[in-house]
Amino acid sequence: MSETYEFQAETQRLLHLMIHSLYTNKEIFLRELISNSSDALDRLRFEAITQPELVSGDEPLEIRLDPDSEKRTLTVHDNGIGMSREEVIANIGTIAKSGTRELMEKVQATDSEDQLAALIGQFGVGFYSSFMVADRVILVTRRAGEEMATRWESAGDGRYELDEAERDGHGTSITLHLKESDGDDGLDDFTEEWTLKRIVKRYSDFVTYPIRLEVEREKPVLDDEGKPVEGGETKTETEDLVLNSMKPIWTRSEGDVEEAELKEFYRHISHDWSDPMLPVWLKAEGRFEYQALLFVPGSAPFDLYYVGFEPGLQLYVRRVLIMERSADLLPRYLRFIKGVVEASDLPLNVSRELLQHNRQVVAIRKGLVRKVLDTLRKLRDDEPEKYLAFWKEFGRALKEGVDEERDYRDRVIELLMFETSEGEELTTLAAYVSRMPEDQEEIFYLTGESREAVAASPHLEAFHAKGIEVLYLVDPVDELMVQSLTEYDDKKLRSVGKGAIDLSSDDEKEEMQKELEEKEKTFEGMLEAMQKHLDEHVKQVRLSGRLTSSPACLVGAEHDYSPQLEKLLMKGKGGGAKQRRILELNPDHAIVQTLRTRFEEKGEEGVALDKYADLLFGYATLAEGSELVDPVRFNSQVVELMEQGLG
Ligand code: ADP
Repeated sequence: MSETYEFQAETQRLLHLMIHSLYTNKEIFLRELISNSSDALDRLRFEAITQPELVSGDEPLEIRLDPDSEKRTLTVHDNGIGMSREEVIANIGTIAKSGTRELMEKVQATDSEDQLAALIGQFGVGFYSSFMVADRVILVTRRAGEEMATRWESAGDGRYELDEAERDGHGTSITLHLKESDGDDGLDDFTEEWTLKRIVKRYSDFVTYPIRLEVEREKPVLDDEGKPVEGGETKTETEDLVLNSMKPIWTRSEGDVEEAELKEFYRHISHDWSDPMLPVWLKAEGRFEYQALLFVPGSAPFDLYYVGFEPGLQLYVRRVLIMERSADLLPRYLRFIKGVVEASDLPLNVSRELLQHNRQVVAIRKGLVRKVLDTLRKLRDDEPEKYLAFWKEFGRALKEGVDEERDYRDRVIELLMFETSEGEELTTLAAYVSRMPEDQEEIFYLTGESREAVAASPHLEAFHAKGIEVLYLVDPVDELMVQSLTEYDDKKLRSVGKGAIDLSSDDEKEEMQKELEEKEKTFEGMLEAMQKHLDEHVKQVRLSGRLTSSPACLVGAEHDYSPQLEKLLMKGKGGGAKQRRILELNPDHAIVQTLRTRFEEKGEEGVALDKYADLLFGYATLAEGSELVDPVRFNSQVVELMEQGLG
């Protein structure tokens, strides 16, 4: 029964754009169709492991191009898994696959056609690219294991028709009714043998199934001695060509593979339309033999840090793709890596559970991790600019490795990059340590919301004054990272926002300590009164040795959470008791000194100490980039103070 359907509105818009404004490079439609066919063959071969009846006898799995220059059609056949009627509706009538869902949302949110074109260029639209070269597309497909076939037809105008159909055997045939070329629109003659050969060689050479083309050739008729007969008589002979070399790219040697081939292969396995940043080759011999070709993508996918992100490498066993996305071949923090792994000694019908515990898989995983980390280290040393680009995209994921990685944790740590008080350039821990003065024993850092917020923190004043470098940890995940990154090169990592910090030499220390203790005595009354007033928020008010120009700052006790981590945890739990902090006052600051003198003269009430305590606490809260506990009150106190000041 024939039925007419409408494309989804977004699909229609995409189609319209594709056809009218998009690609100058129209020939890529063939790559997309071949890529789909190759996937469909992979899927059939995989399903046939457990359901051998799906494939008929010794029929070779293949892709066939069938051009007809008179009718001006090109048909791409495959004998892959095919599609049921429902699958046709779901896969071809809608844009529902994972990568495009985000695209769809963005399409809905965009008005500018330019932006749209850029978006689509970034995502690609697979099958629909046929409409760049065809004004009518007919797809006939039969799902392996089913009797009936389905016919789908559309002119790319927003509607499509579905019908029942007949097809010999399973698989899919897609017939394009090619547009007439006006000679100037980038449309080659896609029924031409040489054109097809060129396109396949260029984009699809690595496909592991034969891409066949039957061509008819006029051959001279030969006589008994093998010479052309007199009169130049000819006959038509059919030749069956295979257009691709079929050699899996990961089995070739690295030096023989051209960059363009590598890019096409990456595109095929990743469905990512931008170029990869870096390939990672690995051929392991010995007890467990395996080969891998991995890629660091050019940019991070939008959902890399979402819980639902599906990592995964393709896993082949003796040329059969047995898993499209195996999450067990790499640890989670390397989930951004794409690629192919082929192992020779795994069973074909290996299950997810089996994979997790298989000794060979464990060995492969270890080998892959080492290779990826080493490649990244090399990149960092040889091409620092490129490494920074990598770090910008994937650094956050790598940081998770500090906690997650068991075997090569040190190598992960060597790859980390940090903002620093020493300048705009990022630094490694090794470089930081190499710059440490001899008597500095710890690695100092401060966490915060942004570089600006951290750089302005009062906690750093003494460090600036002494010229001691401090790492700025301004990424929310840094908080979690420093929970497990407590030491590097035998030096403790120490937050300058926590505990009592003393940057002086031992002699100085003793002297300072004495001085501070003496001062504490003179300040004792005031400190106590302030503490009492602020008790709900502050567990101690004390004098500070870390401030030079600010009157006050907040610090945590040695084992407290930092305010950022606290915020992070509170978000997760939806609130909870806040930790009380320590308020440190700068005894050398004019405000603090005057306050004390007035306090001595007039007493707590006379000087309105509670107001100043609130103001200093508010000041210190803002200075570390946290939110005020009671902003309304703080504001009215500031106004009151200004009024007083102006008399
Ligand atoms: P993509 O290939 O990137 O998923 P397409 O729009 O090219 O996007 O294809 C959509 C879906 O249609 C595919 O994911 C696949 O499920 C199905 N499909 C396309 N071509 C074929 C084919 N030759 N055989 C079987 N299924 C196909």
